[in-house]
Amino acid sequence: MGWLVFYGGAGEVGGNKILLEDGDVRVFLDFGISFTQMGKFYSAPFRRPRREEGLVELGLIPPIKGVYNFDKAETSVDAVIVSHVHMDHVGFLPLIRDEIPVFCGETAATMLDAFTGMEKWIVGRGVRKGSVRTFRTNDGFRVGGVEVRPVHVDHSVPGSYGFVIHTSEGTVAYTGDFRTHGARSELTMDFVSAAEGEGVDVLIVEATNISNAYVSSEGEVREKLHHIVNNTDGLVVTYFASTDIDRLRTFYEVAERSGRKLILSAKQAYLLSKLEGDPHLRVPSLRDKCIMVFKKKKKVYKGWEREVLEGETVVEAGDISKMQREAILIASLYDFEELIEVKPAPGSCYIYSSSEPFNEEMEIDFNKTRNWLEHYGLPQYHVHVSGHIMPVELKKVVERIKPKRVFPVHCEQPEVFAKFIKGIKTDTIIPLAGERYTV
Ligand SMILES: [Zn+2]
Repeated sequence: MGWLVFYGGAGEVGGNKILLEDGDVRVFLDFGISFTQMGKFYSAPFRRPRREEGLVELGLIPPIKGVYNFDKAETSVDAVIVSHVHMDHVGFLPLIRDEIPVFCGETAATMLDAFTGMEKWIVGRGVRKGSVRTFRTNDGFRVGGVEVRPVHVDHSVPGSYGFVIHTSEGTVAYTGDFRTHGARSELTMDFVSAAEGEGVDVLIVEATNISNAYVSSEGEVREKLHHIVNNTDGLVVTYFASTDIDRLRTFYEVAERSGRKLILSAKQAYLLSKLEGDPHLRVPSLRDKCIMVFKKKKKVYKGWEREVLEGETVVEAGDISKMQREAILIASLYDFEELIEVKPAPGSCYIYSSSEPFNEEMEIDFNKTRNWLEHYGLPQYHVHVSGHIMPVELKKVVERIKPKRVFPVHCEQPEVFAKFIKGIKTDTIIPLAGERYTV
């Protein structure tokens, strides 16, 4: 028999940990953190889990023996297959025992390695390089009798994939997170075409935006940003996710057009230094004349920070204070203390270029950000485009793939999705966490 068990991502945004069983072969599709569940007990970065075993007790990771480094039972899972490296899809990977292979795209592997280098993981010590196996688009691989075909998709982090998986009981397609309005929509269309031709029985599809869809595109974001930056008299401060390389490229283009320098955080610079060599990505070079790196005041710099905080293009708060009209400073709330020395001049502004707050912790940070902005008189803009597909396009994808059954995941209101696609000849099954469903 073939089975699917959704240990995360059921009725919630993220936390995907989907177990696929085919006879005695067991494979996890993603192994992410549910920030909703995690936030009930912990708040990163200060209150992180210290006892890995406790995560099973709290229901934050699947209660399966033979999966984790901390239990000694016989290994019971054959592989983890990673769609992309957002923490809500990979955050618990460091708990997976070393002998279980982790399959991911080449760019994704570079990023996982960079996260480990920066000690970015909320749990554990990072992902061991030896357990990672990389693939490229259409570069099929097998786990026992299960045949997996990865196909790239466009999402707000590079190296994102969907999968068409042939089991002895039928064909399963998993979209991971994807969109059709991003800078590389053709990648997503390649996935849809591949799935369309393979007679999909079960489609596991993300439906994040079914409850709150805001339509835009990366091109529109670029034009809006250019308008704001070009008309700002003082400093432009901005925040976006360090893994959103599309947005980094967009800001780089805006900086170049408006004659400003784009000042990266050490984290972004480190990630960029690792991705620079990737021929498929076209990332701006750290040596580009438009790029500078922000050195925050700290007593001790870690090894990875020292790697990117040397050279002529490194600037400190005092330097930025003198070049406000020529700078776009990327700063998160954790960097805001540096504004005391930067002293944003009248006419400066702040652009928030990430998703709206969707949990309690983000709300708290959002309010603190407002207080800092109020103190310095910085108006706040919100310019962003979602990493997730819009409802109308989502319906078209389901229509094209024609699955017999569809499981909506990574969304808070799967019942809206079920009603929305009712006209299509497919059965929608709203997955419940921990339940078993046949393939
Ligand atoms: Zn994602």
